[in-house]
Amino acid sequence: MNERYHPFINRQAKTLDGIRLEVGANIVGVEDAEQAFGQGAESVGLFRTEMIYMQREQAPDENEQVCTYSKLLRLAENRSVIIRTMDVGADKPVDYFELEDEDNPFLGYRAIRLYPEFLDLFRIQIRAILIAACEQPASVMIPMVSCLDEVLWVRDVIHNVQKEMTQNNEAFGTIRLGIMLEVPSACLIIDQLADYVDFFSIGSNDLAQYFLAADRDNEKVSNLYSYLHPSFLRLLKMVMNETRRYQVWTGLCGEMATDPEALPLLVGLGLDEISLPGTIIPAIKEKLSHLASSDCRKLLDQAVVCNSVQSVQSLLKTFRSDFT
Ligand code: PEP
Ligand code: MG
Repeated sequence: MNERYHPFINRQAKTLDGIRLEVGANIVGVEDAEQAFGQGAESVGLFRTEMIYMQREQAPDENEQVCTYSKLLRLAENRSVIIRTMDVGADKPVDYFELEDEDNPFLGYRAIRLYPEFLDLFRIQIRAILIAACEQPASVMIPMVSCLDEVLWVRDVIHNVQKEMTQNNEAFGTIRLGIMLEVPSACLIIDQLADYVDFFSIGSNDLAQYFLAADRDNEKVSNLYSYLHPSFLRLLKMVMNETRRYQVWTGLCGEMATDPEALPLLVGLGLDEISLPGTIIPAIKEKLSHLASSDCRKLLDQAVVCNSVQSVQSLLKTFRSDFT
């Protein structure tokens, strides 16, 4: 690691003018979290739990999951931990789900859309998180939500699980419920969703893919897939205006959070948190410490009226030489 970043490991993430932007970690397991905390992660913003379902013969049982989530919550001490429930399907295949091949897997049967069919597995995961939350409160995040009914359904499942656990005298802890904003339709009903969730996290990878109609993994359309597209920045700005209006905590956990060039735009958006791989956390905290939030807000206003990705990129370049 560059020497320059070292002092930032143990420093609180904030801008030059003292605005807090929590810098959390994206993790795939406990080891990953340990490393990320060693790099100064202030929270876990995204635990991609599908990784514990992949590359094995059957789903992890309740005990195994309780063990993983408890270890993680203990390790996190007082840092907040967002556990995303399994995001299986599309680019994350799991053989024992025996999902049929689809013509458009990214638009098909994945993530929350599988939960009604695989209700037992979803309930096991919720039970495991509730039990582990006896250590300290945990946050549960649902992937690929596209409408209010899905949120109401999830809340119902969680309430039923809690009711059963109470009847059986099983101890469980407090959880907060959040959803990923990664399907454009969800971004346009924040007023309706806000009453039923405790937090949002923008998944810029899928949100950009669905919003720009460009496959995130297809090189042939990579020129169209960019989180710097002015219309995508307008969408993010609109989302933040709405989540601010309804006072719901909002983070961002896709690739965009890993890009130091995009950081001034994220500050301009007024996010509560960004979540990224542990290894780059000190560099992002360092960059953040040079940014003034009022400059970043002006920059965002300029970026949303640009007419191409290239013009946003040149704007960011000029900003870099002006302000850092
Ligand atoms: C995203 O879509 O931005 C995201 C963080 O989720 P994943 O990359 O795991 O689909
Ligand atoms: Mg996603």
